Amino acid sequence: MEFSIISEMFEMMEKTTKRIELTNILVELLKKTPKKIIPNVVYLLQGIIRPNFEGVELGIAEKLAIRAISKSAGLPIKKIEDDYRDGGDLGLTASNILKIKTQTTFTAEKITVERVYETLFKIAKLEGKGSQDLKMKYISSLLNDATPLEAKFVIKILLGTLRLGIAENTVMDALAIAFTGKKENRVQIENAYNVSSDLGKVSLIVATDGIDEIKKFKISLFSPIRPMLADRVQSEKDVIKKMPEQFVAEYKLDGERVQIHKQSDKIVLFSRRLENITQYYPDIVERIGKTLNVNEGVFEAEIVPINENTGEFLPFQELMHRRRKYKLDKAVSQYPITVNFFDVLYYDKKDCLNLECSERRKILEQIVHEDNFSKLVPMLFVKNENEVEDFLENSINAGCEGLMLKDPSAPYRAGMRGSNWLKLKREYRNELGDSLDLIVIGAYFGRGRRTGLYGTLLLATYNPEKDNFPSICKVGTGFTDESLDQLYQILSNKVTLKKNPRIVSEMEADIWFEPELVLEIVASEITLSPIHKTGLDLIRKSSGFALRFPKFTGKIRYEKAVEDASTGEEVFALYKRQSKINHEKWAFFREKYDIN
Ligand code: AMP
Repeated sequence: MEFSIISEMFEMMEKTTKRIELTNILVELLKKTPKKIIPNVVYLLQGIIRPNFEGVELGIAEKLAIRAISKSAGLPIKKIEDDYRDGGDLGLTASNILKIKTQTTFTAEKITVERVYETLFKIAKLEGKGSQDLKMKYISSLLNDATPLEAKFVIKILLGTLRLGIAENTVMDALAIAFTGKKENRVQIENAYNVSSDLGKVSLIVATDGIDEIKKFKISLFSPIRPMLADRVQSEKDVIKKMPEQFVAEYKLDGERVQIHKQSDKIVLFSRRLENITQYYPDIVERIGKTLNVNEGVFEAEIVPINENTGEFLPFQELMHRRRKYKLDKAVSQYPITVNFFDVLYYDKKDCLNLECSERRKILEQIVHEDNFSKLVPMLFVKNENEVEDFLENSINAGCEGLMLKDPSAPYRAGMRGSNWLKLKREYRNELGDSLDLIVIGAYFGRGRRTGLYGTLLLATYNPEKDNFPSICKVGTGFTDESLDQLYQILSNKVTLKKNPRIVSEMEADIWFEPELVLEIVASEITLSPIHKTGLDLIRKSSGFALRFPKFTGKIRYEKAVEDASTGEEVFALYKRQSKINHEKWAFFREKYDIN
């Protein structure tokens, strides 16, 4: 299949934000695509080449792409950099530059989707000495044969900046329409996606075997299941309102969520974002098998650091020592952990997703042999506010964050957030009622003790409709010397020459970053702001939301993707609640002082 077909469709998709139009273009594209390469096209649409959990990353630096464009165009690097600086999009730069070239030469042969895909795959797999040069050669050889439009999209995919605005849901709608004729069949496709996290694999089955095969889709070991998520509640009262007469209460441990896949001696670990994190936990790989009384299984647990002498849980940040590339052995012995199981999704050929929550817990209790490394999350059946309160008290005393409340009859709803699971945190660490997870988009150089570091960070929320990052505040408090150093190390790898076009901000930062890092922030109040762009126009024309007295809590939320960060809608909800609280305070005063 010619790559020009895809590029033309990508171009059309870039020009629209309407979901129906996007779906129609996608349906047309899928119908034109030979079945064999449907998964490849589905990955490319999302700007990836394999499902995320396989960790096959292109990770091409802008500099390398600039070198490749310069080589193909026969123009100096400086010229490419200048054009890029003016336009802000390296894909467009490649296209502009090659337009000039193709006016004078003929392209040798038409490039195909198969060739682009295979080349990208090879590039992703290259590592070690000399790999940069080889990558550059592969890229420029593709560019040599590409039309300007094709070059634009090749570069965007390579840099990870292809933003067609296609949500997974839209791809699933299109698959249902293109291959089953009915959009309603999306539900079955989504179920299959939720248990495999691999839209490419699912698309191939829909295209070749039809919807009946999809209905039979089963969990496969080592393909992660998309996690079930919880709704947040504010009080014990809200819990009682939303739960049945008797329900499950579990400690909400503050660590890293892990999905453990086991088959005989083979153990693979996935994070909440479904990245393979096996390498960071050699101790789990070594020790967990012995405590699980099954040949195969998929389990969910929370990894929590502990003090081995006292058995106390330690703060979740201690796990970050495991993310170091070197001296992992040392981190493993210095920062011991426990694995706290809270769910079983599959074991010995039995799919547990449709079993009731309390049934799954019973099975888990039979499978896990507890020792000082593997544990079951403490659990109790409760009925009323008092019991919830008592158990919450115990949980906080044990160093946990709060409680998870679960409907005992609910199945495991992969990939869904809903009220079958509720999370109740004890203390509201700030007046807002909750912390926010915000994305670092820029920084200002530090002064005094912070010279040479980033003294203040510029933060944004995520806007899912527009797929962009509107600013919300600057933050300069809550940092320790250690965290400033750590943030500098992390962020200096994310610096961009120009502000990423998805950042929406009027602020002039000293430095801009690729929006990738999420931090936990608390604040005293949400205010309206003429400068910041989160929730723009929601309350007042030309005003957005800003945070008053924002403070970094010390938690870098590595486990959160930028798409999981707080949204303008969430800030809006907190804003409304805050006004309600003021209103209630006012009502209280009115009553107390008898004011009308
Ligand atoms: P949050 O990250 O605040 O949305 O809270 C949900 C997270 O709590 C999950 O992703 C788990 O990592 C964690 N968690 C801790 N204890 C439990 C539990 N007993 N059941 C489910 N999730 C838990």
